[in-house]
Amino acid sequence: MSMEQVITCINCPVGCRITVTLNDANEVISVKGNTCPRGEKYAHQECTLPLRMITAVIPVENSAIPLSVKTAEPVPKRLISQVMEELRAVQISVPISLGQVVLPNVCDTGVNIVATRPLQ
Ligand code: SF4
Repeated sequence: MSMEQVITCINCPVGCRITVTLNDANEVISVKGNTCPRGEKYAHQECTLPLRMITAVIPVENSAIPLSVKTAEPVPKRLISQVMEELRAVQISVPISLGQVVLPNVCDTGVNIVATRPLQ
């Protein structure tokens, strides 16, 4: 038996609606509705191992201004709550530079959490 999943490609503003057909083993059988190859790649990724960029705001020890941070690359969507949990334990103080690694290898993904702005 097969199952259809309709997703919206987020790789560009066109936002193609893509219909993905999966088999019982959750393998992609067909992809329709994408208007470029990036959509097909995204559909495979989204239906097998969905990834997300994660953004957050964390407190800074010696500053009243919190720090906005993000994953340097997308990480598996299923890890969002664990990433937030690890971020809660981060202790950081100013000065902080743009792109500074705040938390390396979050959740053993090989991806760092980095500062999205400097803070003095
Ligand atoms: S399939 Fe291609 S054209 Fe359509 S939204 Fe995705 S990237 Fe854009």
